[in-house]
Amino acid sequence: MSIRIDPSPYMTSLTENYLFSEVRARINGFLSRNGGEIINLGVGDVAYPLPLLIAEEMERAAAELADNARFRGYPPEGGYDFLKKAASDFYFKHGARVCEDEIFIGVGTKSDASAFTEIFGKADVIVPDPVYPVYADSAAMRGDRVLFLKGEKENGFLPMPDGQERKPWIIWICSPNNPAGSAYDGAQLSSWVNFALDTGSLILFDSAYSAFAEPPIPKTIYGIDGAKECAVEFFSFSKFAGFTNLRCSWVVVPNALKCRGARVNALWRRRQAAKFNGVCYPVQMAAAAALAEEGERECEKIVSVYKENAREISGFLKEAGVWHTGGKHSPYVWAECPRG
Ligand code: PLP
Repeated sequence: MSIRIDPSPYMTSLTENYLFSEVRARINGFLSRNGGEIINLGVGDVAYPLPLLIAEEMERAAAELADNARFRGYPPEGGYDFLKKAASDFYFKHGARVCEDEIFIGVGTKSDASAFTEIFGKADVIVPDPVYPVYADSAAMRGDRVLFLKGEKENGFLPMPDGQERKPWIIWICSPNNPAGSAYDGAQLSSWVNFALDTGSLILFDSAYSAFAEPPIPKTIYGIDGAKECAVEFFSFSKFAGFTNLRCSWVVVPNALKCRGARVNALWRRRQAAKFNGVCYPVQMAAAAALAEEGERECEKIVSVYKENAREISGFLKEAGVWHTGGKHSPYVWAECPRG
């Protein structure tokens, strides 16, 4: 018995497994054949638990929900004001101005980023290669045409817009990059912003690894002139604060960003109102604690351990004469296999 409804032709065009599910299946297969232990350097999950003060904040907030006087029902779908204010302050600290009404709190960059393009008509999409697989998969699920821009030794795994067809694109940028560990500097990001402004393109900037970026690598695209007219930014608490289980993120959709006269901010607000019911209060309180001074310090301590690990791996590879990117501004190292 089969239901008589067609599957989306775009779904059936996808590769059978999501990349990380495929990696997990191969590891499990290897272990069941060979036994032993594997140190998995492949998938970007965190290794350390939440800083205690963040977990305690969440407990306090959860207890409020069991109290008659302080109970809360559905959260606002765009996020509580206290967390949007903390996010706006985060940008101010990093030299950019982002207003609270430009910020939308979400349950993770994977969900935010894969849903975001829903508000646009069909588009041609630029995706760097290699990169986090969600951008290409979600473009394929919409039937968008994807142009992969090759990261390679020659461009240091930082593809640039030179030579690209000058037409409107949706352009994904992930900097610092997963998995290559490469990161654009301000001048390189400016080239992308200028290309987007000249061609009427939209940049979707994934800053999931911004906590690993040190000067002169920008932590946000909004330090770049003109970015607020052409770029949306995704921020995740996953790697910065160990929220891979808790789930919290935000999207910045600037008020100045318009597509053919429509405000992109209003389109995303309308989409979220229809399809999303917000992030729970304890998680948003925990996220605000991670952005507060003491919480941020605790998170930075953990990030610095991941950075030190990557730096060490990079050091070994350098000694062994193996070409690689990353190991700096990133938890990732992307190394050439010496025998192909
Ligand atoms: N963006 C990039 C580049 C990532 O590498 C990851 C996770 O590995 C994510 C987004 C997922 O973020 P979140 O946990 O907020 O969904």
